[in-house]
Amino acid sequence: MIKYLIIQVDDTSVSYCHYPALTGKPRLISLDDLRAGILWAMKENVTVQFVYPSYRLPDEYHRVIESIDHADIVPAGCEDTGLLDKADVIVLDGMSRIASHTFRSNAAYVLRTSKEDLLTGRDAVAYLLDRVMRLNVVITDVETFTDDDTERYGKLLGSLAEAVAEQYAAGRNVQFNLLTDRLMLDRMNNCNAGWETIALAPDGRFYPCPAFYGDADKGYNIGDLHLGPDIKNPQLYRLDHAPICRRCDAWQCRRCTWLNCRLTLEVNTPGHQQCIMTHVERNASRRLLPLFPGTEIPEIGYLDPFDIAKN
Ligand code: SF4
Repeated sequence: MIKYLIIQVDDTSVSYCHYPALTGKPRLISLDDLRAGILWAMKENVTVQFVYPSYRLPDEYHRVIESIDHADIVPAGCEDTGLLDKADVIVLDGMSRIASHTFRSNAAYVLRTSKEDLLTGRDAVAYLLDRVMRLNVVITDVETFTDDDTERYGKLLGSLAEAVAEQYAAGRNVQFNLLTDRLMLDRMNNCNAGWETIALAPDGRFYPCPAFYGDADKGYNIGDLHLGPDIKNPQLYRLDHAPICRRCDAWQCRRCTWLNCRLTLEVNTPGHQQCIMTHVERNASRRLLPLFPGTEIPEIGYLDPFDIAKN
């Protein structure tokens, strides 16, 4: 059942996840499609999130957007400072964005970064943990992660666990997707694109998420505003039809279906890289168990659940 609608208002809207933002000329969703998308969301009683470009939208668009309760996902470099001041989620596209940004302690932040910048960027991430309410770190080149990176990633997260513990000791219960999410969950909490979440793109069509809009030429649209969403084989997006993931306890995993398609060509089959990284995060989260009394994360002897499945 669909619970969330993400409306990408422009072709150049910021990416807040693994996929690259589209480059090229701005193309705003038409006002008619924006109104129709909002009406659809109202009728279906789904929660709406708007994803913005860095330029200021015409006032008419803001008037239409304000007609529904929603959340705003805004790039850190947005020239509309009024929008930035009230954004629910602010996206830092790369480590270089950090130094020039004025942080809001009551906002959630997404840091999109390459693997290598993250592995060498411990102090920058600790700096963010000291300033924000919630931090989601998203790696933009997951496909480059190799087994040789596992130890470095584990060490980085171990060091960042100390930074999180310092925040807690100072009375700031910061949320950090790579370390605290697993501790706060009691079941799988994935992105669920194509199952509980879909996206409306500037072309007036629905997609499993904005990432698939960038691959629109591959035929990933799942319906339009006239006929509504029409997802072929919808079971493929569901956790209960993902044979490995449904038995996994890396509950914080995004289980990104777009990454699955890129790495394995299957919607419901994750790539080795996604599983390894997620399990390093799961295991590093155990270091913070003393901060979460009553929470258990069992010790396990594998990093990729497929190794268990093979046996
Ligand atoms: S770690 Fe791998 S098996 Fe576990 S939920 Fe994520 S993608 Fe699925």
